Amino acid sequence: MKPFDTIVVADWSAAKRAPARPSKDAIWLGITRSGVSEDPVYCRTRQEAEAWIVALITQETAAGRRLLVTFDFPFGYPVGFVRHVTGSDDPFALWAWFADRIEDRPDGANNRFDVAETLNAMFEGPGPFWGKLDRDKWPGVPYRKEGIAFDVVAEKRACDRVARASSSCFQLAFPPTVGGQVMMGLPMLSRLRKLDGVRVWPFEDWQQAPVVLAEIWPGVIEPAVKAALATQGPDAIRDREQVRLLAMALSRLPVDDLYRVMAEVPAAAREEAWILAAELKEDLIVHAMETVTPLRNDCFALPPGVHWTPVAEALDLLQSRLSPVAGAETLPLDAALNRISAAPVTAVRANPPLPNTAVDGYGFAGGRGAGTHRLPLVAGRAAAGDAPGAVPHGAAIRVLTGAALPDGVDTVILQEDVVVDVDHIRFSGPLKAGANTRQAGEDKHAGDAVLAQGEVITPATLALLAATGVREVKVHKPLRVGVLSTGDELVPVGADAGAGQIYDANRPMLLGLIARFGFEPVDLGAVADDRTALRARLDTSAQEVDVVLTSGGASAGDEDHVSALLAEAGAMALWRIAIKPGRPLALGLWNGVPVFGLPGNPVAAMVCTLIFARPAMGLLAGKGWAHPQGFTVPAAFSKRKKAGRREYLRARIWEGQAEVFASEGSGRISGLSWADGLVELPEPAADISPGDPVTYIPYGSFGI
Ligand code: AMP
Ligand code: MG
Repeated sequence: MKPFDTIVVADWSAAKRAPARPSKDAIWLGITRSGVSEDPVYCRTRQEAEAWIVALITQETAAGRRLLVTFDFPFGYPVGFVRHVTGSDDPFALWAWFADRIEDRPDGANNRFDVAETLNAMFEGPGPFWGKLDRDKWPGVPYRKEGIAFDVVAEKRACDRVARASSSCFQLAFPPTVGGQVMMGLPMLSRLRKLDGVRVWPFEDWQQAPVVLAEIWPGVIEPAVKAALATQGPDAIRDREQVRLLAMALSRLPVDDLYRVMAEVPAAAREEAWILAAELKEDLIVHAMETVTPLRNDCFALPPGVHWTPVAEALDLLQSRLSPVAGAETLPLDAALNRISAAPVTAVRANPPLPNTAVDGYGFAGGRGAGTHRLPLVAGRAAAGDAPGAVPHGAAIRVLTGAALPDGVDTVILQEDVVVDVDHIRFSGPLKAGANTRQAGEDKHAGDAVLAQGEVITPATLALLAATGVREVKVHKPLRVGVLSTGDELVPVGADAGAGQIYDANRPMLLGLIARFGFEPVDLGAVADDRTALRARLDTSAQEVDVVLTSGGASAGDEDHVSALLAEAGAMALWRIAIKPGRPLALGLWNGVPVFGLPGNPVAAMVCTLIFARPAMGLLAGKGWAHPQGFTVPAAFSKRKKAGRREYLRARIWEGQAEVFASEGSGRISGLSWADGLVELPEPAADISPGDPVTYIPYGSFGI
């Protein structure tokens, strides 16, 4: 079965016309196209929303794209209601019944309470519809639920009881309410289902339908919505976040799982409808959590009219547009080395937990002035790990480094400064109170921050976390980075190369860089300069990895299929960056996965990876932005440079000076391996002589 290309989540409303400024309680539409989240659409009226959905259905079906449109209100009423009202068992007869009676004006004024009175009149006793905005109006609709029998039809549907949180479709007022939305929504659905290709799940055969309408309940992803709102300012709009996250979460559900739960609905759903994927709540929450900040479709767009973007500006753009895409998990400390923290961590326990002695010696209370002092010695000793005992005032006790100070001890004298007799010690003052001791919590107090979000967990971090009683940390899952080579001329390492063929050098280099950066390298192989093959490889890769690095074919020539395909996907920008070595970089999203189209030349491919791809991938992985640390050193070379581009020379340090590789040719792989780092020459023209200061960035500063 074909998966859904486009997913819409509509948050419907029974309210009056909403304000022009996006607000809650209006209609919000969340959209994911080919796995890429789009900005939610804000609609002030139901008419506006319906027109937007109709236009989308027309456009997507014309483009051969399969569409799932979900709505957050019940598509049906409890069993028996349809027959009681319409005399038939066809749920669509009820939709038509509402479509014939509901009046809805562009200002949002409508007759839903009058229609509820009509319905209530068909049932004996009060109800089943209840709740109203005005106690004195609509006498046929009770204000409160008390006294309604719910005997002919139940108060709730089977799926409402299973999902356990949604309110009854007979409740027309007081939050959380859904009754008004149903009445104002079914007429719209009744019109939509008559469009070409549209089928309603689970009432109709939906398996082959180009457009499927289904009921959903945003409450299923509530924890993710809370988490998303917590990361945003006070202006965040809950409804907007709900539809955005739910559309993304649905698009990330494995299609087999989704189709399985869609196929397995209980019999009652044929009349009452069912909440889509409510059974997959846990998965939906996980996916929604991972997409708290999805990449925007235009994240690689460049300002219009710019031809050669300066390096700093390109980096600023990447920094401002990218956000973590790697999911999170909680790991025990011993499994967390090299991971990136996904949440701040605070000390569980103080370090040190108790005041203790910093030296081997004798402990007692208070300082001592100049002159000789004699203190009686109590029996025993305090060693590291002993629970603190007590020492009488004026007496001393033997203490060993790290021992918690016994009660009555706050000062320690070094053993070297003491003469010990059998039952007393003698020493010369002065000695300050508190000497040679460490205060409880002088390093960290319980509750102090010990690890910020986005930091790499190093061996030193592990020491601090362990010391402060932290047992587990929430970390990002490793960023999976795929590496793909392109070019007809390439043969893999180990194969026989014919004349005119070259060995694929970029792939092992890029895979190695990824591993050194601390990400998870995924070898995607090589593809020839063939657009169909490349498209297929990108399609499968986008399922497997979080980021793709390609090399070759990134410019704008005939054989530059990477840039051509990304441009075709509509989410690409050809970045002409004022950098040497470097050709245009093709940056784009393929099915929501960022693709860095690197130049084919190995030198340019490596420099562009270090300068652009590395910090960008750091953000995607959940890290902060990485500035490689450079050092000012005297040049051991002469060079004239024109104004315009920022240049990176392969360099190494020799006797405290930076020497550079003899040839600047960007195919000279030997220079990369000869070097220990790069010399960075800024954009202005320069005439460098030996001894002039230059910036040298060791490979180590790039983490390689
Ligand atoms: P392109 O960017 O595809 O025009 O390639 C530029 C140059 O880099 C050409 O000389 C290619 O042969 C070379 N090249 C491309 N990919 C690789 C690779 N994976 N390993 C080594 N050289 C490559
Ligand atoms: Mg090529």
